[in-house]
Amino acid sequence: MSKKYDVIVIGSGPGGYVAAIRCAQLGMKTAIIERYPTLGGTCLNVGCIPSKALLDSTEHYHAAKEKFAAHGIGLKDLTVDLERMVQRKNEVVSQTVKGVEFLMNKNKIDVHHGYGSFLGPKQIQVAREDGSTKVLETDKVIIATGSKPIVPAAFNYDKKRVITSTEALNITRVPKRMVIVGGGVIGLELGSVFARLGTEIEVVEYMDRILPTMDPDCSKELMRSLKKLGFTFHLKHAVQTVKATSRSVTVTVQPRDKEETFEIKADYCLVAIGRRPFTEGLGLDKAGVQTDEKGRIVVNDQLETNVPGIYAIGDVIRGPMLAHKAEEDGIFAAETMAGQKPHLDYNLIPGVVYTWPEVASVGKTEPQLKEAGIPYKVGKFPFRASGRARASMDTDGMVKVLAHKETDEILGVHMVGPRAADMIAEAVALMEFRASAEDAGRICHAHPTFTEAFKEAALAATDNRAIHI
Ligand code: FAD
Ligand code: NAD
Repeated sequence: MSKKYDVIVIGSGPGGYVAAIRCAQLGMKTAIIERYPTLGGTCLNVGCIPSKALLDSTEHYHAAKEKFAAHGIGLKDLTVDLERMVQRKNEVVSQTVKGVEFLMNKNKIDVHHGYGSFLGPKQIQVAREDGSTKVLETDKVIIATGSKPIVPAAFNYDKKRVITSTEALNITRVPKRMVIVGGGVIGLELGSVFARLGTEIEVVEYMDRILPTMDPDCSKELMRSLKKLGFTFHLKHAVQTVKATSRSVTVTVQPRDKEETFEIKADYCLVAIGRRPFTEGLGLDKAGVQTDEKGRIVVNDQLETNVPGIYAIGDVIRGPMLAHKAEEDGIFAAETMAGQKPHLDYNLIPGVVYTWPEVASVGKTEPQLKEAGIPYKVGKFPFRASGRARASMDTDGMVKVLAHKETDEILGVHMVGPRAADMIAEAVALMEFRASAEDAGRICHAHPTFTEAFKEAALAATDNRAIHI
């Protein structure tokens, strides 16, 4: 039996479920289709939320082990129960996905569990797990099917010893050694989880620095901190093959500038070399929707595909693969469908790495400004000069403000430090309003807070006017 909707959203990640809510708020009769039993997509089930839950747990343990004594706190018999940590993580996920279910009900959005695929531009089939199917009719569609990890065939991905983030989130015994392929966001966040528990972490990164898309100062500062945590880095190295037995893995690695290879043996090999858009089984050809050479759905500035009325958002299209970007895309698509003129600037989507210290960044990096030939000035402030950071023993890292040399407009802000993930919001807000570095430097910041480091870096960029360095 067929049911007619104004809009059907395929995929219930942060892009899809947020788009569905905004569509419903705007008066559209809305349905969402999700292939898995729980809503929330990668982010809530196997991404942002579970990884942050484990990062928080292990941060507590590490602080207790390494920092409490300096604060004058003695602890006897400190132990780790990784099974309990994973269980708590699962509870956090379960509460969070239930929250999305509640929001679907509250907004009167029909939820259809099953595999969604196009029969035509306005007809979507839902194939349920029990083998039954139904067909839904709609005026418009939002594709929000997200992404999956990239794993080359030579890595012999077996989900047991050769794993991706999805499996790493469910390891319940602390490994002795783990090889991580890729010094990007996932590798460094999940590497931190296990390094804090005592696992020896070896990162093999193809490029000459970790976090190669972020500002080089962030790569340098974070690498220094992670080495202190016990990470070993093989930069400019490529993994050739990964071979697993039931108990271990052997990873063959080659330096990019040498012939001879070497082997690393470990309990696990975590592959974290990026993600690819997921459109398998979606029947894009039946709707006539085009993809590009990377498999991303092609959209115009309105996030509409080549087929009128079919939109696409989040990880399945261009732009950073981030939950908050997917959400903004979702709101943008819903409001555009409703005839509004929303605003979305990918340059001002912040990027955060939830290591400790945290890394946060918005706008242009120094190499990007150089390449574009934009004249700029730099202001930096180290956390070791912050009273707040000394009080909490979090003196690693710095804030860096890049401003236009002539107009003083803030063009980029890059931070490595305590609570950088939260602090970057101020920089984003100021940049949305096209503030100058002097504007940021003249705003009163509470003392003592970590945020003073941003004010000081802005003052340093203005005219070398930082007060505390
Ligand atoms: P997804 O969240 O991938 O959701 C897509 C949904 O569509 C899935 O539920 C899928 O089952 C469903 N689907 C696909 N095809 C079909 C179909 N044919 N029919 C029905 N359903 C379908 N981002 C951040 O911003 N911050 C973080 O801290 C962060 N941490 C992360 C940690 C990890 C370990 C990982 C893997 C990712 C992390 N990300 C983080 C990235 C973030 O999860 C993604 O950018 C985000 O989930 C993308 O949202 P989306 O809605 O586009 O797609
Ligand atoms: P990534 O793009 O962040 O990092 C991949 C890294 O692997 C890069 O440094 C790259 O140079 C390296 N690499 C690529 N191929 C390689 C190879 N063959 N050998 C060695 N190194 C290689 O990708 P990711 O860490 O897998 O994360 C995937 C996506 O998930 C990212 O787009 C990220 O934005 C998102 N994510 C975000 C967060 C967050 O916002 N905190 C957390 C986790 C994941």
